[in-house]
Amino acid sequence: MAHAVSYFSRWNPSTIPLPGHIGTSPDRVRGMMLGLAVGDALGNLIEAMNPPQRRAKYGEITDYLPNPHAGGHCVGTPSDDTQLAFWTLESLIRHRSLDPHDLAATFCSSHIYGIGYAMSAFVHAYRDQGRPWYEAGQPSAGNGALMRIAPVLLPHLPEPSQKLWEDVIVATALTHNDEAAVASSVGFIGLLCACLAWSSKQAPPPEWWLDTFLRYARPVESGEPYEPRTRQIEFRGSVSDFIERFVRPAVRDRTPVLEACERWYSAAYLLETVPAALLILATHGHDPEAAIVRAVNDTRDNDTVAAIVGAAVGALHGETAVPERWRDNLLGRTRAHDDGHVFELLDEALRVFPPIP
Ligand SMILES: [Mg+2]
Repeated sequence: MAHAVSYFSRWNPSTIPLPGHIGTSPDRVRGMMLGLAVGDALGNLIEAMNPPQRRAKYGEITDYLPNPHAGGHCVGTPSDDTQLAFWTLESLIRHRSLDPHDLAATFCSSHIYGIGYAMSAFVHAYRDQGRPWYEAGQPSAGNGALMRIAPVLLPHLPEPSQKLWEDVIVATALTHNDEAAVASSVGFIGLLCACLAWSSKQAPPPEWWLDTFLRYARPVESGEPYEPRTRQIEFRGSVSDFIERFVRPAVRDRTPVLEACERWYSAAYLLETVPAALLILATHGHDPEAAIVRAVNDTRDNDTVAAIVGAAVGALHGETAVPERWRDNLLGRTRAHDDGHVFELLDEALRVFPPIP
């Protein structure tokens, strides 16, 4: 990837620790991808509402709501999170590895539901203006790359090498050419690798979630400062600094998710999305259903926070721990007329990238 050199001089993949051998199972890999799709689908129709408003209208949401895109039935349909994650999987299967040109073209090939600002600007630059993939990324600290990054680890399961981090950096900067975006993707992929490989019968302790994320994200951060959008808190620093300053104390004090997320905000800005997702995982990661329900009910950009939380708890606990009613009623759609495609892609991915126990 000759054109990626400028990214690697900014974020040096050789400084990021390598995950050890990722011994895992098809059940965990399926759990990761279906957890993502289920979380997205549960939040999808009701995103962009603040949690108290949402609660006043719907009460506590624990299942799919009547869906206008599916004849009013209570079934799960995708938004951009599921679409872009599974189109990444399509591209990986087609090339057997990450091909940034094909990934960019795939992202621009079909209609994206609920497309974000940075992603629209990327599509405009790449497809409409004909910019090459390495010049179409936007300077955005939105969560649009983090939400779809999970499948990038699949080709690396048998033997994680520096190429894993090169792929994560390129797949992120392709659309979100920004330090917080790259650090968040790297931290989250490190966390997913650890979830897939977790071998104890006991769930990880609360602060393990933060420590694991930070171990991978920190080396990427050069100190570029970010500031919150809310005036309720004062802060200037990196995503990792925010986690130490606000999320760790909230985990120790057992601050309720809703209370913390209302104080920090929990929308599409990474300084909001990542703290929300990590707090939910640290406090509810032992219970996949409870973790996803908290993400859906207690956060603003709830489809994306639930997709991120869903991928992590699915990777840790496996497909069978993701409630059956959510998996059974997921249409598995990624485009207008491809119901079931999510399930076909997962079967194919496990043939092409078989996990090693
Ligand atoms: Mg979405």
